[in-house]
Amino acid sequence: MPDFSATKAQFTLPKGVIYLDGNSLGPLPKAAGANMARVLQEEWGQMLITGWNKAGWMDQPTRTGDRIARLIGAQPGHVVMGDTLSIKVYQALASALALNPDRRVILSDSGNFPSDLYMAQGLIATLGQGHELRVVAPEEVADNITPEVAATLLTEVDYRTGRMHDMRALTRRAHDMGVITVWDLAHTAGATQVDLAGCDADFAVGCTYKYLNGGPGAPAFIYVNPRHAEAALPALSGWLGHEAPFAFDLAYRPGAGIERMRVGTPPVLALAALEAALDIWDMTDMAQVRAQSLALTDRFIAGIEATCPMLELATPRAHAERGSQVSFRFAEGYAAMQALIARGVIGDFRAPDIMRFGFTPLFIDAADVDAAVAIITDVMQNALWDRPEYKTRAKVT
Ligand SMILES: *Cc1c(COP(=O)(O)O)cnc(C)c1O
Repeated sequence: MPDFSATKAQFTLPKGVIYLDGNSLGPLPKAAGANMARVLQEEWGQMLITGWNKAGWMDQPTRTGDRIARLIGAQPGHVVMGDTLSIKVYQALASALALNPDRRVILSDSGNFPSDLYMAQGLIATLGQGHELRVVAPEEVADNITPEVAATLLTEVDYRTGRMHDMRALTRRAHDMGVITVWDLAHTAGATQVDLAGCDADFAVGCTYKYLNGGPGAPAFIYVNPRHAEAALPALSGWLGHEAPFAFDLAYRPGAGIERMRVGTPPVLALAALEAALDIWDMTDMAQVRAQSLALTDRFIAGIEATCPMLELATPRAHAERGSQVSFRFAEGYAAMQALIARGVIGDFRAPDIMRFGFTPLFIDAADVDAAVAIITDVMQNALWDRPEYKTRAKVT
């Protein structure tokens, strides 16, 4: 088993906490504060406006994108940072539809994260061209990729159950049917091994505050297959995606390749935090991360199933169908999760009944898994969750 103690040492992990929610918000890299302070003091403080050139702020979105490219199986030059994932979903989907102008169906599945579906609904209303959002069960996606479909909008790993689509097979089927693919990697990037270039995925988007540990509100990324890079129209045609932003032309002309997917001014400070997280990622190899993730999730499933028969596994057992999280169904899942959090095991709850635990090899090891299993066993076997204070729902679950 590869040793991740070196990466674990790079994170701030509060005492008494087993953090199984890095799939929602990764922990703080110890170096992030110093890197942000350096950008604040030495760059913003001393360079002022000249930082855009002298400190390379203007190239930061592509420079950072290249470092993420390595983690998602893309070549450098095809990933750019900016905005939030919802915005990038909109942009990628709009580009995909424009590449398939004679078709009107967007295919997604009922396991998708609602924001992706909402963005598709908003885009359809804005376009006013009679597009239809067709939402089918996840296991019915393949059969519904037909010549009617303009684009698929699929999240590779289901945020609730951790079920993973077969990106390679679905992309191949889509291309056989003349369909453009948009893949959401929110629960993939930093979690599983993905090969965007090898799968010939058309568009991909993802966030960096989950498994990538970029911090709350860290910017999103977008990937465009080099095949489409000069043809894709970004829909959100901001000045920094213009061919020559500082020519201040009155008419929009898309920039070269991935640059056109930029919209406005980059979030320099947020990217400084993300850069510290990427320094940790530079110590890793995604094949090893994936192997360790599967070992941890196998260990967790075996441990819980041996002691907690009241919890029903919602995550696929097959490695090829599993992301880096394990979910169990339990009717009182919200209260049970609050009881766990009170005892230092932090996971989260997703309505209606999913208790979700994320496994992130960079800072979770086998000893953490065993300690979490012991606490969960105690809470479940003794119904320690059955108290009024665990049943009142907070705003963020
Ligand atoms: C987390 C997540 C989002 C969140 O989008 P933001 O714009 O970053 O808030 C969107 N889609 C999926 C699939 C997610 O998992």
